[in-house]
Amino acid sequence: MDEFELIRRYFAAAACAHTNANVVLGIGDDCAILAPDPGQQLLVSTDTLVAGCHFPDPCDPYLLGQRALAVAASDLAAMGAEPLGFTLALSLPKADPAWLASFARGLGAMAACCDLRLVGGDTTCGALSLTVTVMGQTQAGQALLRSGAHPGELLCVGGCLGDAAGALSWVLGEQDGDCPPALWQHYWQPMPQLALGQALRGVASAAMDISDGLLADCGHLSQASGVNLQLQAAWVPRSPALLSALPEETSWECALSGGDDYVLLFTLPPERLVSLQVQGHRVYVVGWVQSGEGVQLHAPADGLICSPREGYLHFA
Ligand code: ADP
Ligand code: MG
Repeated sequence: MDEFELIRRYFAAAACAHTNANVVLGIGDDCAILAPDPGQQLLVSTDTLVAGCHFPDPCDPYLLGQRALAVAASDLAAMGAEPLGFTLALSLPKADPAWLASFARGLGAMAACCDLRLVGGDTTCGALSLTVTVMGQTQAGQALLRSGAHPGELLCVGGCLGDAAGALSWVLGEQDGDCPPALWQHYWQPMPQLALGQALRGVASAAMDISDGLLADCGHLSQASGVNLQLQAAWVPRSPALLSALPEETSWECALSGGDDYVLLFTLPPERLVSLQVQGHRVYVVGWVQSGEGVQLHAPADGLICSPREGYLHFA
């Protein structure tokens, strides 16, 4: 099977590669042609996953396909974008039909969840790595940025934190026994919060997705907005699965500093909270915005002292 046969069989023929009103031309030419709706701006983001760094090698290719697209699509959610399409640059050590079929199915499943069309890519032979570029649209000027938070606003998250970090020791094969399914699922099938992100347009003052861990990403939001963030550890939601799988202190570390959550972090004026909740969005207040800089963590009420780690840094 050569490169072109591979592209045809596993990607061009996939349901997620069909064109639609916004994808004028998909896989097969030198470029894809996208047509955002009138008055919309195009949002673009790229994520690379390298075997042995961002995911264990070997791993289940179906889950890898899901995860690769989910982590990229989470950036569209973070800015309130409506998904349009994505490209996939794939570097593979060999063309294994079973691996490719399973990977493409996982990718297609997440593409369907996110309503994203595969519009092109690149296929090369080399060490396993995946680069996904996602594209979305928002009304001009409506995209959510990290830089809009103001003193007096609430600091919120869109779901429980720490589940993916809680799964990590099982994902990496460092722990015996079965990983609790809810944690496993959060690592391999994080669900980009696209509907929440879209609902936050015109409501949240700043937003981003949590990929490096709550504390580290609060630091990024605080810096971009030029504000101080007060974080109440006791208000940070943790799932029943995390609480029952791990000791108390480890579950705090996962929720506060663990990465791979892909849950939205945002700020908003207090009076806007109810309207979001009435629409059915799960929103958790975890702190507030003050003037100043940096992030201050208030330890949980029981006096437990957390030892927050920094977020993950390449080249550190
Ligand atoms: P070029 O040499 O002009 O860059 P390629 O031969 O790399 O084009 O790719 C041929 C077509 O297949 C292009 O439309 C490209 O976007 C698409 N393509 C290549 N690899 C992938 C992939 N992994 N997934 C989806 N589309 C791909
Ligand atoms: Mg070309």
